[in-house]
Amino acid sequence: MAILICGGAGYIGSHINKLLHQKGYETVVLDNLVYGHREAVKWGEFVKGELADESEIEAVFQTYKIEAVFHFAAYAYVGESVGEPEKYYYNNVVNTLNLLKVMRKYGCDKIIFSSTCATYGEPDCVPITEEQRQNPINPYGATKLMVERIFKDYAKAYGLRYVALRYFNAAGADPEGEIGESHMPETHLIPLVLDAAAGKRADIKVFGTDYDTPDGSCVRDYIHVADLAEAHFLALQYLEQGGDSDFFNLGNERGTSVLEVIEAVKAVTGKEFSVICTDRRPGDPAILVGSSKKAERILGWKAKYAEIETIVAHAWNWRKHAQF
Ligand code: UDP
Repeated sequence: MAILICGGAGYIGSHINKLLHQKGYETVVLDNLVYGHREAVKWGEFVKGELADESEIEAVFQTYKIEAVFHFAAYAYVGESVGEPEKYYYNNVVNTLNLLKVMRKYGCDKIIFSSTCATYGEPDCVPITEEQRQNPINPYGATKLMVERIFKDYAKAYGLRYVALRYFNAAGADPEGEIGESHMPETHLIPLVLDAAAGKRADIKVFGTDYDTPDGSCVRDYIHVADLAEAHFLALQYLEQGGDSDFFNLGNERGTSVLEVIEAVKAVTGKEFSVICTDRRPGDPAILVGSSKKAERILGWKAKYAEIETIVAHAWNWRKHAQF
């Protein structure tokens, strides 16, 4: 029996692949390598393939006996999703339908899905709990919410069993430094600030200092990728032990502002760099902080690396020696 990791060459999927391997699972990564890195698949089998092509998914299910699927294969650039919604609805929604179709055909009934806090849109209050209204403000968040809805209907009609994990801001890198975050193009705050510290970019721009937050910059809930990996493993065990389909927030329940992230990078790296305060980035909510109480209660999950300095230190360690 093997576990299929769709999008396992990407940032979060590759960390889950490593953890599952450590836990003794046989894994198969299916990735088209559009954004993923072949070098990030250091464990298990690798198949280059497209979820857009049902026959390529089927080939995997014919070769391996797939017990459960982890699904990370999605486009995730919020700005791009606004300009090119078609690309996002096809890749994130239609391709997921292809995957579910093949899973049904081969009697595979368990899926763990990479969802997002972007399904909530502008929160009514923080910390955000799972009970809050989901009202995404961009196509990216809408695609993830649609997939959650599809799972719900498939669970009822076909007996699919799923866990949807709604992440806040995934950050950090493998504590052992074997894999880490590498996006092209890079838009995320922590890697960009680290690049400024490393002298790879001239400065870091702070997108807005006039928000209604303690220091005026946006507040986010940064969650270590190794903690995310642990939650995925617990979700798999939960489904294996007969747990009901469910959805969980994954965050640290603590907010860190953009300026605080910059301070943490300066403290960890000992480097000085230029910080430029600029206009707000369209579509950025002031504060996104998640409550993970439900995941703690039902999955028994607790973040191990909640300190922003630890998250930044692991990311820095990776970025200094990054192999991809
Ligand atoms: N941000 C910033 N400068 C940058 C990149 C990001 O000030 O060069 C801010 C962004 O406005 C947001 C926070 O950092 O408030 C986190 O952004 P990121 O893109 O990392 O994640 P998001 O919260 O958009 O998922």
